[in-house]
Amino acid sequence: FVNIKEGKAEIFIPKAKRIYDAPVFYNPAMTLNRDLSVLVLRVLNPKTVLDALSATGIRGIRYALETNAEEIWLNDINPDAFKLIIRNLKINFGEELTLNDKMARVKGEKEILATNKDANLLMAEKFRYFDFVDLDPFGSPMEFLDSTLRSVKRKGVLAVTATDTAPLCGAHPKACLRKYNSKPLRGELCHESGLRILIGAIVRYAVKYDLGINVLFAYYKDHYFRAFLQLKDGAKEGDKSLKNMGYVYFEPKTGRFEIERNFLPSREGAFGPLWLGPLKEQKFIEKMIEKAEKAELPQKNKLLKFLSIIKDELNIPFFYDFHALARRNSLEVRKLSDVCSILQEKGHKSSRTHFSPTAIKTDAPFEIVLETLKLLQ
Ligand code: SAM
Repeated sequence: FVNIKEGKAEIFIPKAKRIYDAPVFYNPAMTLNRDLSVLVLRVLNPKTVLDALSATGIRGIRYALETNAEEIWLNDINPDAFKLIIRNLKINFGEELTLNDKMARVKGEKEILATNKDANLLMAEKFRYFDFVDLDPFGSPMEFLDSTLRSVKRKGVLAVTATDTAPLCGAHPKACLRKYNSKPLRGELCHESGLRILIGAIVRYAVKYDLGINVLFAYYKDHYFRAFLQLKDGAKEGDKSLKNMGYVYFEPKTGRFEIERNFLPSREGAFGPLWLGPLKEQKFIEKMIEKAEKAELPQKNKLLKFLSIIKDELNIPFFYDFHALARRNSLEVRKLSDVCSILQEKGHKSSRTHFSPTAIKTDAPFEIVLETLKLLQ
């Protein structure tokens, strides 16, 4: 084992040449994911929090040390992970730890509980108990979703990571059909469509419980997807969420896309179903930035840069990637800022997007965007 620090936490992690060979999983590349999650908790102030798939415990321990959460649960099915979680709880919270029947408990200012169970079993036992549940699995979160929607309170928040980008981005379409009941899209829009397929699948699971979903913040970064979803209680809320479901059509020859809000696609060639609603709540992002500016976080600078792109990003589905657009239409690539200023002169909004450094989101129709690129040749 080696001792490391991340945020306010100090933990032991297994020594291994490659992270996936280690008996308990710890990925330093996910520090930014955990930093952003700490900020989300600081904005939301949930009292009861579950880190359902804890591995070393780093996430739950950071939530306990760096947020106002009062009762934090950590859980992992792997007995080696559970042993390590206990060891890590001891370093961070002293020896005041009681152990019985596969449960460890720290009782201090905050209550911290660690269990060694199947996450689905634990969540089934804790019905409508948590204000905030975090799912951070290997690959897809879908196998945990039903019990998560039952164990989170009806106005609670769900935080979901998905690292199975190959299915969601269309490299393994059959796996996407199985896991997400959705037809994925390849090409330059695949990361945004992957994120929207993930959210869309969660919405379809949620509405059967008469719950709706409000997307507080969802993003793609470093080969994973992450979504913070606020549940809305009531059948009407479910109906509202379903109105934001639909399909995307994509022309590989030109890069032209079209969206359709509908329960079923009206014509051939549709990709989805997927979520077509907002990927952020502007006020929520602004609050996160406010908190981040005052915070001490391991990846603070990187995080502030990332959040500033998110803040300015237009909250509309899909974008034009100028490398792809130029290639598909046999044109030369031009500077994004030049394209944006012409679009602005024509009365259209445009912004950068975190999905691609070479793309813009705009309310201009495809024909105008293409015409603008042609004008700049
Ligand atoms: N949240 C951790 C972090 O931020 O470092 C990483 C979690 S790791 C990606 C996923 C963990 O889920 C593994 O430690 C694995 O043992 C655990 N796991 C897999 N299936 C599980 C199940 N059915 N119930 C509980 N834990 C499970």
